[in-house]
Amino acid sequence: MDSKTDAQRMEKIVSLCKRRGFIFQSSEIYGGLSGCWDYGPLGVELKRNVKNYWWRVIVHERDDVVGMDGAILTHPEVLKASGHVEGFSDPMVDCRTCKARLRADQVIEKKGVRQCPNCGGSDLTEARPFNLMFQTQMGAAADESSIAYLRPETAQSIFVQFKNILEVSRKKLPFGIAQIGKAFRNEINPRNFTFRSREFEQMELEYFCRAEEGMTLLDYWLEERLKFYENIGISRDRLHVKTVPDEERAFYSKGTYDIEFDFPFGRQELEGVAYRTDYDLLQHQKASGKSLEYFDEETKQRFVPHVVEPSAGVDRTVLALICEAYSTDEAPDEKGKMETRLVLRFHPRMAPIKCGIFPLLKNNDQLVAKAKEIVGLLRAHMNIFYDESGAIGRRYRRQDEVGTPFGVTIDFETLGERDAALRDTVTLRERDSMNQERVAIKDLAGILSARIS
Ligand code: ATP
Repeated sequence: MDSKTDAQRMEKIVSLCKRRGFIFQSSEIYGGLSGCWDYGPLGVELKRNVKNYWWRVIVHERDDVVGMDGAILTHPEVLKASGHVEGFSDPMVDCRTCKARLRADQVIEKKGVRQCPNCGGSDLTEARPFNLMFQTQMGAAADESSIAYLRPETAQSIFVQFKNILEVSRKKLPFGIAQIGKAFRNEINPRNFTFRSREFEQMELEYFCRAEEGMTLLDYWLEERLKFYENIGISRDRLHVKTVPDEERAFYSKGTYDIEFDFPFGRQELEGVAYRTDYDLLQHQKASGKSLEYFDEETKQRFVPHVVEPSAGVDRTVLALICEAYSTDEAPDEKGKMETRLVLRFHPRMAPIKCGIFPLLKNNDQLVAKAKEIVGLLRAHMNIFYDESGAIGRRYRRQDEVGTPFGVTIDFETLGERDAALRDTVTLRERDSMNQERVAIKDLAGILSARIS
């Protein structure tokens, strides 16, 4: 696809997200708050499915990982020790002509002259560091002592609670601590829809280990994380592993991979998997004066563990899922004429709504009663959507457009009016193939649960 069609595709995705209630601009009726997004009724379901599946495979299905949920407001000493107060910045350039503030890597260079990508002007300032952290004031006094920060990543509270969690969980190395939560960065130029936001969510695992295990575990976690993306429906073809070169890697990291995805606006990072050595725990041990050592009962040695960190963005994963799922094909309309169908091909595990339930006619009490009975049966197992309005084909299309993988239609055969053998059976339609099968109502919950788990 060329860049023009990719840009058009992205525009269509953004517009679908708004029209169908996935993602809205935050504070839209006041003109919008730049870099902030609100998830609507379908977006919040999709996002929860991503987070719940991550938690399931990282925490619940493993014996060697426990979870935590830390505070967003962070003690300044934590972020001084981690290096964020001093160094968590992007180089920023101002355009004196149009007053744009630019990340230095956005400045265009033509024939050796630096140009503003906004207005083309060449009167630009030198690059200077711009700290990306949001600073706030805690308590009534507004002086140095009341400064706190909104956390720029969830990882630091994991490091700071390492000793407490080690004690209560009684885990042996290697083991991990996982966290999902909001992070805040005052990005100079939020862009590409939710891709670069100022408020976003992260899913981070700090996997503590011995120094000699670090490099092997780095490769192990890279593979685990690639499997995760495949299991939520992102095809391996569109995932790319970048080995971050020495000069781009943090000085303390012995190896870092970026997992990238082909977004319509280009190949961009979804997740970083980094071997951070013992840097973080050592920094906090030094700054706090409290021991963050691990005692190995077998060897009777005390040491500060090393750590491998897979750090993923919830919002970027959600956006990748929507971009991957967005597609069109041809399907017959009510009269059998072929028309273009817009369909989000979400993996059933991720789909916000799992099953649409449709009585053939809304003015037939028996059909409606049967349909409501099925709503009651399925609701305990999955998120469903009941729809009785409009032609059945149109109801299917509305669900195709939001990626609902299954549709159940209750018709006169369900009532046993045509063939007694078909009593209490329904039509089960699959979104992608549009195949329909006849299924007994009593088997529905089992069949669908197996397909969406
Ligand atoms: P980038 O280079 O794109 O700014 P980063 O390398 O600074 O990202 P990390 O600090 O490694 O990102 O954060 C881990 C993950 O958190 C990223 O892979 C991404 O999924 C997510 N993330 C980071 N910054 C943002 C942001 N501004 N908006 C949305 N998600 C983000």
